[in-house]
Amino acid sequence: MSPVPGSVLRPADAVDRDRLLATFLELLAVDSPTGHEEEIGAVLEARYAELGCTTTKDDIGNIVAVFPGTRPGTILVSTHMDTAGTDRGIVPVIGDDGVIRTDGTTILGADDKSGLAGCMEVMRLLRAHPEWSFPTIEFVSTVGEESGLVGSRHLDVSRLNATHGFVLDTAGVMGSVTYWSPTSVYLTITFHGRKAHAGVEPEKGISAVQVAAEAVAAMQLGRIDEETVANIGTIQGGEARNVIPDTVVLQGMARSHDQDKLDRQLSAMRQACEQAAEAHSAAVDFVQEEIYKTYRIAEDARPYREAASAIRSLGLEVSPRKSGGGTDGNYFNAKGIPCVALPTGMVDEHATSEHIAIDDLVVACQVLLAIVTQPAQGDEQP
Ligand SMILES: [Zn+2]
Repeated sequence: MSPVPGSVLRPADAVDRDRLLATFLELLAVDSPTGHEEEIGAVLEARYAELGCTTTKDDIGNIVAVFPGTRPGTILVSTHMDTAGTDRGIVPVIGDDGVIRTDGTTILGADDKSGLAGCMEVMRLLRAHPEWSFPTIEFVSTVGEESGLVGSRHLDVSRLNATHGFVLDTAGVMGSVTYWSPTSVYLTITFHGRKAHAGVEPEKGISAVQVAAEAVAAMQLGRIDEETVANIGTIQGGEARNVIPDTVVLQGMARSHDQDKLDRQLSAMRQACEQAAEAHSAAVDFVQEEIYKTYRIAEDARPYREAASAIRSLGLEVSPRKSGGGTDGNYFNAKGIPCVALPTGMVDEHATSEHIAIDDLVVACQVLLAIVTQPAQGDEQP
């Protein structure tokens, strides 16, 4: 049902379900596996300009589209234009139950095209309703989110004026607000032993496989505590059955919502490696790289309060969500723009079972529209 002009009670009621769905399907049709965002970037840049934004693209392809407000203040609304993995040729299937799925051979890409479609619908509505009161919105669409938040990591936020923001890029029930995300650290651990002929003179060798096995066996992995997880995900090394292997490389990660707990877990993993190496006169390089940093937004901070009041205005319940992963929001928070992350309706993202209910796509868009059009909540510091 299309709203009759002039009869709209709340801006959120103006969301056009059919138009939103059509936009979403158009975006799904543009392949954008992570690292290959040129085509989707060109599509978005053109659309944002048509919808009244001033758009700029940085040297790695991040797009900032500024939609001018009708009242003072600037907020950030962030999405990412890449999709996980390498899938192309996505074929969405709309079920009789109002759920959009894949044909079973690829991901859907609702992560994060559902967020992008919602932003475009909001731009269209704001353009059609200059009588509404809303702040200037910096719509940021990043590249490389699925490759480790590459786009937001590189984005120069000194170009932005936003005091706070909203990242449309999570799963979770409608009404959830992701206020707390962990720090994630990637590990690359290389064991150096000594090569020798295993049949002829094994006593001259030091087996890097054996050292690595001892190290991994001594580690606590999986769920460490309520806040902390750790994993060794790959193990590679050796060259032949009859050669004592001199190199083994492990790749792993650890995450925690608590920095002290993470530091303790990482040093325990390092110690396990060093002790195993020492016991066999081998050597180890233990390299850790922080991929993103934890953030925690208080309930009385501006992005949380604004998201919560918008959600309540739609008759939904606010559910605080602590996530196990990161979003571009981790970098915006680290760079001084406090953000919460919000659900777009996506379910089972990154899998061939990925799907989204059209009703949830609509609600996510309504939440965003309610956030931007609700009365200003003062200009106090976030
Ligand atoms: Zn995503």
